[in-house]
Amino acid sequence: MSEGVQILLVEDDPAERRAAGRALAQTGRVVTEAASGAEALGVLRRGGDFVVVLGLALPDMDGRDLLVRIAADHPDTPAVIVTSVDDVAVAIDALQCGAWEYVVRRADGSHLVHLPGVLARTLERRELVRDRNRCREEVEALALALRGTTDGVVVLDPGGRVAFVNLALAHAWRQPESTIVGRFLGDFVGTPGGQADLGDVLAAVGEGGRWSGELRTRGIEPPQGVWDVTLTPLGSPAPAPGHARTAVGIFRDMSEKYALEQLRADFLSMITHDIKVPLTVILGYTEMLTDPEPPPDQIPPEVLTRIRESGETIHGLVCNFLDLSRIEAGRMTLDPRPFDLAEMLDHAVEHYGSTARRKGVRLALETERLPALVADESQLQRVVANLLGNAIKYTAAGGRVTVSAARQDGRVAVVFRDTGHGIPADEMPHLFEKYRRVRQAKRTEGTGLGLFIAKTIVEAHGGDIRVESTPGVGSTFTVLLPAAMSGVCRGDRGGRGERTGERKRLAQRRPTRRA
Ligand code: ADP
Repeated sequence: MSEGVQILLVEDDPAERRAAGRALAQTGRVVTEAASGAEALGVLRRGGDFVVVLGLALPDMDGRDLLVRIAADHPDTPAVIVTSVDDVAVAIDALQCGAWEYVVRRADGSHLVHLPGVLARTLERRELVRDRNRCREEVEALALALRGTTDGVVVLDPGGRVAFVNLALAHAWRQPESTIVGRFLGDFVGTPGGQADLGDVLAAVGEGGRWSGELRTRGIEPPQGVWDVTLTPLGSPAPAPGHARTAVGIFRDMSEKYALEQLRADFLSMITHDIKVPLTVILGYTEMLTDPEPPPDQIPPEVLTRIRESGETIHGLVCNFLDLSRIEAGRMTLDPRPFDLAEMLDHAVEHYGSTARRKGVRLALETERLPALVADESQLQRVVANLLGNAIKYTAAGGRVTVSAARQDGRVAVVFRDTGHGIPADEMPHLFEKYRRVRQAKRTEGTGLGLFIAKTIVEAHGGDIRVESTPGVGSTFTVLLPAAMSGVCRGDRGGRGERTGERKRLAQRRPTRRA
């Protein structure tokens, strides 16, 4: 874009300046004249798009110094020198100082005829330099984006070797970029189960254009290293068939999606199994109960217990799902009231007693005189059901589960201790995550929601839940709940006074031991 470019003519000799000014006016451009270096710099500082024409001998500075200043302060302003000495060395010197072109001054003034042409060439060159700089910036920005993007990017040469790989992909392939470049793409990824040869895929890209599909990182088991890949050949129109082409591959990491799908599939089969087993028990026994043979009085009482427990297993599953959907929808509300924790634990232990007995697990409750607790009793029942249910579920026959409650530093600690199979140390940091289950050789029923729900409920009460576990020895889950302020149970707020008597009764009954 050279329209609007003005000419700045820097010449101290008035006659020279006039002659040059006349010649330059023929270009149709505005010509501004300056008689010194300082004046010229002043014009440039005021702004505008200029091409500078200057002589090297100026009254206040060496023309080369002016060139250096222009190049430094106005790098987009080209300068053409008019030198009186027909000496290449002077011209080279000036070019090194930042001049774009030079014209040798002739005594007969014939150099002025060439000056407009030289300026036009200089401005054309400036356009080319601008274009080149724009391209360079674009390439740099693209390279930066490619390097920084979280998607993987490779450029493949026509032989299928990696010519470029971005940081994200190099990280995912766990190799530095430098060791990937130059090797075949097939060294790093392959089609799932090796269904197709990567060479065929690349040949198809060369011939048929774009290819999209799944590739997997070699040596890494799914869900890691699963990629949704698009390979696109570069250059159009396509060369002759059979001709290999450079291609760009965009790799989108599908590991998380793959893991989620796997989780959903596992989860579905898990819950259908976990509901089907107790349902079969219920249906089997109710069929037996509705059958006239054997007579009802000969049916063992254990049958009813099994029906109840199976119903409760399904109920527990459904409750966990309902809790989860409430938590996820932000609809979990608390209805805190003073209540008797010891009594609630007593009921829970009694309730789970038959399950523990049938499993051959001893179950004990130890509580001391507890301070008043203001909490949502039904929500805490869900916590106790999950933790106590787990303790029994993950403890083998002959083991022991102890529930205890005691004061601890101004809080109430409810502890569920078992002598079960324990939890591996590397699982501990993730234990309370949604759907988290420890992988075991033999699957125990469960959905991986109980601990997540328990933690959410306890934390909503301003409490804390902790776990200690030693594989092969057992686990201890501790729920710490804030004790109510003193006096809360003494009837100074609606309805609470009635509980004082109960609290006393409970105090007389503690400690309770149940085996
Ligand atoms: P679920 O029991 O339904 O799988 P939870 O969220 O209650 O889900 O528990 C998550 C995982 O923590 C369980 O799958 C189990 O591996 C482990 N776990 C929980 N409680 C215990 C325990 N008392 N002993 C051993 N492992 C446990």
